[in-house]
Amino acid sequence: MIRTGKTRNTLLLGAALVLGLAGCGDAGNKADAAPGSEKLAVVATTPQVADFVRNIGGGDVAVTQIIEPGVDPHEYEPTPADIQAIGQAKLVVKSGVGLERWLDQTIQSAGFSGPVVDSSLGVPLRQGEPGDDEMKDGDPHIWHDPRNAKIMVADIEKGLAGADPAHSSAYARNLAAYESKLDQLDAGNVAAFAKLPADDRKLVTNHDAFGYYVDRYHLQFVGSVIPSMDTSAELSAKQLDGLVAKIKATGTKAIFTESSLPPKTADAIARQAGVKVIGGDDALYGDSLGPAGSPGATYLGAEEHNTQVIVSALEG
Ligand SMILES: [Zn+2]
Repeated sequence: MIRTGKTRNTLLLGAALVLGLAGCGDAGNKADAAPGSEKLAVVATTPQVADFVRNIGGGDVAVTQIIEPGVDPHEYEPTPADIQAIGQAKLVVKSGVGLERWLDQTIQSAGFSGPVVDSSLGVPLRQGEPGDDEMKDGDPHIWHDPRNAKIMVADIEKGLAGADPAHSSAYARNLAAYESKLDQLDAGNVAAFAKLPADDRKLVTNHDAFGYYVDRYHLQFVGSVIPSMDTSAELSAKQLDGLVAKIKATGTKAIFTESSLPPKTADAIARQAGVKVIGGDDALYGDSLGPAGSPGATYLGAEEHNTQVIVSALEG
């Protein structure tokens, strides 16, 4: 008798916890769809694509963002609330190129059979490093070239218009406005790097997240603390010595840490190489955006921050 009652209470408690989680999400930035709302319910995976959806969707969409700011997307594990949100969505938007390895299973668990926008569709991909199996689909950090971001938002606009044709003209207008902001961002970055001598444009980062950025603005990628486009790898002692030697030999001035990764190893390498670490508030937005209300909370703000930090650290 007692055991039966206890089991039942535990089950009820479990259900309440799941509902409680969902409730918290609704109150925070997880979701803003009210019951009976006519807004298109969209689930977006990363802070970057969620920001894109908010910009293109405007007031006609209710966005549920799965991954919170400052969380490593490579190692993300979905929660019951994520499954519930996807189950209630009309459209799911992902960044793509294997960044969300957890998504297919989560969509299946949620019983979601609606459209999934792969915002990487049409983006020219950088190849992963040979032997880096986690990145066999290519380099997933596509958004760091604003020209790729333009392709991503166009994919998203197509998805929104397909799921909600009644508001397609608003989505097209929002897209045009945002595209011109992306053009401004790109032009601003080009102008900022033009002031930096080619010999000073050397980048060492926490993990290999800036390949598209390096290509676009003609930087030299010297190496990364985590020797991968993924974040789960670790430098061996030999690789660590190699990176220190490379930093010294190339005259690289700084190591840049990232907002979503611990800076410990970067600090150690910088000490050995005798260069500065750029971290704390100046940490780059490699895989994530800043918390709500901070200048890095939007894609445009985060990318402007990155360029400003990199140029001022390397010109000094
Ligand atoms: Zn990454």
